[in-house]
Amino acid sequence: MKVRVRWGRVLTLLGGIVLLILLVVFLFQPKDHSVILEDVVGKTKEEVESYAKKVGLTLNVLEEYSFTVEEGKVIEQEPLMDTKVDKDAALTIKISKGEIPSEVYKEQKVNELGRIPIMMYHGIIDKKSSETSYTGGNVDKDGYNRTAEAFREDLEFYYQNGYRMIRLYDYIKGDIDVELGKSPIVLTFDDGKEDNFKVLGTDENGELEIDPNCAVGVLEEYKAKYPDFHVTATFFVNSGIFQQTEYNEQILKWLVNHGYDVGNHTTTHPDFTKITKDKAQEVVAKVYQQLDALIPGQYVPIVALPFGSPYKKSHENFSVIMEGTYEGYSYKTEAALRVGWEADYSPYSSSFDPTFLKRIRAYDNNGKEFDIEMAFNLIKDSKYISDGNKDTIVIPTEKESVLKETYGKTKITY
Ligand SMILES: [Zn+2]
Repeated sequence: MKVRVRWGRVLTLLGGIVLLILLVVFLFQPKDHSVILEDVVGKTKEEVESYAKKVGLTLNVLEEYSFTVEEGKVIEQEPLMDTKVDKDAALTIKISKGEIPSEVYKEQKVNELGRIPIMMYHGIIDKKSSETSYTGGNVDKDGYNRTAEAFREDLEFYYQNGYRMIRLYDYIKGDIDVELGKSPIVLTFDDGKEDNFKVLGTDENGELEIDPNCAVGVLEEYKAKYPDFHVTATFFVNSGIFQQTEYNEQILKWLVNHGYDVGNHTTTHPDFTKITKDKAQEVVAKVYQQLDALIPGQYVPIVALPFGSPYKKSHENFSVIMEGTYEGYSYKTEAALRVGWEADYSPYSSSFDPTFLKRIRAYDNNGKEFDIEMAFNLIKDSKYISDGNKDTIVIPTEKESVLKETYGKTKITY
């Protein structure tokens, strides 16, 4: 028997099946609720409002003075353009309030030629201030070591007095980014003490577990407590780095990946007036070499001078701290820190010398002997107060004569 295949029917059937599959695919495809964000920078608030309404975004509007963006237009957006977000996600825009009127400068006493404190810390000891017999949380007679509790109080004092942290390297480069009316402060730690970054162990992912009462533990606490404090610090190490051989490399990497900096405090902490020129090159070169091997390109070319030696820039060893070659390895230092007693100058000031910066010893001596309280009282009326814009240098007209380096920024006097 012959079976007659009715090709017409078969095709109709197949066609029907294909259509059915397409319909199922169409009906059950996952609905795309996302939006690719447009670039709204430079648009007006009204334009962004109608855009947000159209695509179903929640809009947050912030306002800020701007020297470069016309009043009423968007300075920046978060998330950035081309970001894929959910339809009901929030879009935050910053609208320009235009240039800051000079009354605001007066009101805020803006002075970007003012003094900037660079604090010098050493150890942070896991103790309560009541557990030492020395003044206000000093752990030793000279106050080189502070209790964790006193260190917390120091940070609270800086924050409440309008100080916001900046990186030492940004300071020497004249790159200061602090909000309007606030003042920059720099934190430094010498000697690479174990209590600067005490590792308790590692978790199941191999991440470092940091003692909450070591220097970095306390700093991280304040980073979370006051996000606008911009917590950072520069740690100056010797050959022992942080004295934890098994973790040293991981600690260095952690620091540079979390907004901190590492600099050079020489291998053996010598008094530079008591060693040969050759030895001076060796002790500087070897720390740079070590940092080059562990965190290449990620450390700062800055030396914290041991004991503040050689005390004078005219000393013959000073030049090899700044630049030298040891056994074929060459280095160049951009800044050097002394052991000082008062705040240093603005990087825009004619008195500014990054190769010989003064630091304030961070200790307590009842407001005497250039302790924290005294050093801050001394600059009460002469501290650096920011205009909130890193592209402009704002100074009272009468101070204009001490302006030297502008780093390509626009000068505004009032
Ligand atoms: Zn030291």
